[in-house]
Amino acid sequence: MTMIKCYMSLGSNMGDREDNLRKACKLLMDSGKVADLKTSHIYETEPVGYADQQNFYNICISFDTDMDAYELLDLSQGIEQELRRVRLIKNGPRTIDLDILLYGDEKYDTKRLIVPHPRMYERAFVLIPLSELKDMDVEIPTDKSVVKLKEFTF
Ligand code: ADP
Ligand code: MG
Repeated sequence: MTMIKCYMSLGSNMGDREDNLRKACKLLMDSGKVADLKTSHIYETEPVGYADQQNFYNICISFDTDMDAYELLDLSQGIEQELRRVRLIKNGPRTIDLDILLYGDEKYDTKRLIVPHPRMYERAFVLIPLSELKDMDVEIPTDKSVVKLKEFTF
């Protein structure tokens, strides 16, 4: 069984943001297809666009998986839907976003999936937590405030 190392970015700006991140990690683990899940600290990030919304809580995670990249995308979108059900009741913006940053060193450029994530190198809220988990030799953009908040456990 070949295990591939993946990196993902998770963000939430609605409701109990830390709990949303925690639930998303738990649901990934519950799939039984994810091993050695590691998490960055939580960072608080100014939202892009509308100012009249909560700041984001962002983390990066890494794990090993035997899912192929599309299975991982399906699982991630299922988790987004599961957690967004809460949103429908509360009538708010979405609760959680799961983006695949890196899937081994494989590249995808299809309608459903682009990997490496096309905007990851422009986003400090991705690169800063990611650099806790992976040696990175990249320039971090400084246009948005990204504040290290606290340790994250799930
Ligand atoms: P965004 O993350 O850009 O704010 P969404 O979470 O709504 O927006 O995702 C939009 C679409 O992006 C999804 O339908 C998904 O198929 C596609 N997508 C392409 N590449 C990726 C990736 N690397 N990770 C997650 N979704 C991706
Ligand atoms: Mg997304």
